[in-house]
Amino acid sequence: MKIFKKKKCKICKTKIGTRFCMRKGYNICWEDCNILRVDEKCPHECEYHLQSSEIMQLKAKSDSQMEYIDLLKKQMAFWINKPQKIFNDQIPITMTESSEGKKKIEEFLNQYKINPIVPLYYLKERLSLDDLKVYSTPETYEDIALEFMQHLYTNEWGKVTSFMSNNEYWKSHDLKDNFITRIAANKVIKKINSFDLISSALTKERDQALVYFDINCKYDLTIDLQLINNSWKVKSIIIGKPELYNSESEAIQQVAILLSKNETTKANELLTKYSNIYISSSDFEYYWGLYYTFIKNQKKAEHHFLQAMILDPAFVEAKYNYAFIQHSNKELETAKKLYNEILEEAPNEPKTLNNLASILIDEKNYEKAEKLLKNCIKNNPEFEIAKQNLERLEKLMK
Ligand SMILES: [Zn+2]
Repeated sequence: MKIFKKKKCKICKTKIGTRFCMRKGYNICWEDCNILRVDEKCPHECEYHLQSSEIMQLKAKSDSQMEYIDLLKKQMAFWINKPQKIFNDQIPITMTESSEGKKKIEEFLNQYKINPIVPLYYLKERLSLDDLKVYSTPETYEDIALEFMQHLYTNEWGKVTSFMSNNEYWKSHDLKDNFITRIAANKVIKKINSFDLISSALTKERDQALVYFDINCKYDLTIDLQLINNSWKVKSIIIGKPELYNSESEAIQQVAILLSKNETTKANELLTKYSNIYISSSDFEYYWGLYYTFIKNQKKAEHHFLQAMILDPAFVEAKYNYAFIQHSNKELETAKKLYNEILEEAPNEPKTLNNLASILIDEKNYEKAEKLLKNCIKNNPEFEIAKQNLERLEKLMK
């Protein structure tokens, strides 16, 4: 992996300088941008300048909710120290010296219908507005991503796994440790000393989000979250920028094409590269499995199909390939169990119907085998092996 040194913010010298500041003439971090722009003196040409700065009516480009909330707080801090027309040019912070003044501010604030993410608690605290009604702020996907990062950072693997969308399945199938081993061994995750939320994006349907972190001012890490039963779960982790999320399917295709042309050396190179980026992708594990099948290393193929299956329990092709290896190795009970699991997900999967039937024929469970084969052939009349199996079965049943 090639690592280019990232540019640091020239103001704080600790965070990443993610944006160019027109006032300063160099790159700065979003926190320092907020400190600067809250005074409304930024040039309008800068896309981050404050478009409207009335209290609670903030309009400004932000790369994340965290940035927006931080900007709101900075705006509040600015607002409370400046004479306000609405209070006949009195300064809110001095108004709070009298209970009458406090009441005026509370009345003013209470008239707003406030977006729940607005940190009203900040004003309440700063101005000691004891009677101001403040609702608790809802937990956002960024909060979840931050908690998740915190657990990665402190190596609390059990907690890390509890954020994953497949956790319930892993728990019930005793597979949690497998994911932990995978994550704990990752080179970038092992090295996390500091992390900063840089940006986030939400889909139009508001059910999927990407949250992008800088790690140690050196690496990029993106967390892909999905809203499942009203709670945000981590679907996958990408060692890279959020743009890479969209190129995953293209990357998969590149590997698939190389394998179909039997260009195994090149496929190996790409698989190595992409598995270092898409570290929790079931697809690349699946293609590693195919790769090792092509170069006839069944042991490794088996390992990777199993990994793909664990990462995505609904991945029928991966499960089938794993089951087939068990079948070939005469691990018939395991193979049968897996074939049955596949048929629960995909009741007409032809290869599975046929293979399971062939095991059942050997076990002399003819009736069930016949049912499976007939079902298989009904939807796939060209499936020769299934037809041969049915003929064999019919002879046996005579
Ligand atoms: Zn900075």
